[in-house]
Amino acid sequence: MTDTLTAQELTTYLLCPRKYEFEHIAGLTGDSQRNQDLFRQLLRKAICTGYSESRSNGTDLHDAALETLDTAWDLYADAADHHSSEQESTEKTRAEAGIDAYFDAVGTTHLDRIDQAATICGSPVVGPDITLIAEIQGQQVGVDVDYIMADDTQIVGVRLTDQMWGDQVPYESQDDIVEVHLDQGGYKPEKVGTVIGARIAEEALSQYGNPDTGTELTYLSVMETTFETDGECQAEIEQRPMGQFLADARQTVDDAIAWMAGNITEEVYSPEQVFDEQDHWSGDFEQVVENSCRYCSHAAGCQEAIRREVMFNV
Ligand code: SF4
Repeated sequence: MTDTLTAQELTTYLLCPRKYEFEHIAGLTGDSQRNQDLFRQLLRKAICTGYSESRSNGTDLHDAALETLDTAWDLYADAADHHSSEQESTEKTRAEAGIDAYFDAVGTTHLDRIDQAATICGSPVVGPDITLIAEIQGQQVGVDVDYIMADDTQIVGVRLTDQMWGDQVPYESQDDIVEVHLDQGGYKPEKVGTVIGARIAEEALSQYGNPDTGTELTYLSVMETTFETDGECQAEIEQRPMGQFLADARQTVDDAIAWMAGNITEEVYSPEQVFDEQDHWSGDFEQVVENSCRYCSHAAGCQEAIRREVMFNV
């Protein structure tokens, strides 16, 4: 058995096993989304600080979040690659609008539920980046959430983001996304990865509460839409509970986790071997080539990519 595998690592394996080897075994840096990652970290930190300060010393949670954003902004802006001061200023205005929209929509409701979760879970319930750990088919797996909230019927892990990632969190109409990828060879690794994360959160949170308590992961996009009204920037949030994506797919997801963990333990990283010769995905390696190789930062040092390029040049 390997150490804890995270939902992010499993998603990378699902995308391409060789990419997993490059990034999680050889320790090479992955495809750069650096600015976006830094921006999400900043939003998470601001909102979680709002909750933490409000719970510990009664500070207004909305004010504390905006103050954290403001205090941390210069450090973030120095690390990020803005191409102009206008771009940086617009981004900050949008972030403030997102935080306003978030607290207007759910701030105090979620604060009450966070308090309930603290009573039920008895461990830190406000992050950012609380790692929930579960065991699925003998494999220890983990997923990061930003806070945990609860009411009388449900315990929910919340993962905050700036936008719902068109390519990553499945749309509500795609409740068969796991079947589409794993049984029909549809190649939607990132979307299936978010469902894997949801399954891990569901299992990890089930240790709390009683057997009748539901558990779930929700993705919450703080600034899904931003727009101008009367010369001011406004934002709207979006929440996507992930339970519906697991309704008919729990066993399939568990089997996929076990399949990938087994391959990783056996050091099976050849994408052709994994996708053309193993039967946990009905697609083939050509879909990896068509969808992922062209955007992959490892292509210059990847034996599969080089071999294919040589073949195309013959
Ligand atoms: S270039 Fe293609 S085969 Fe190689 S690691 Fe990247 S996605 Fe995988």
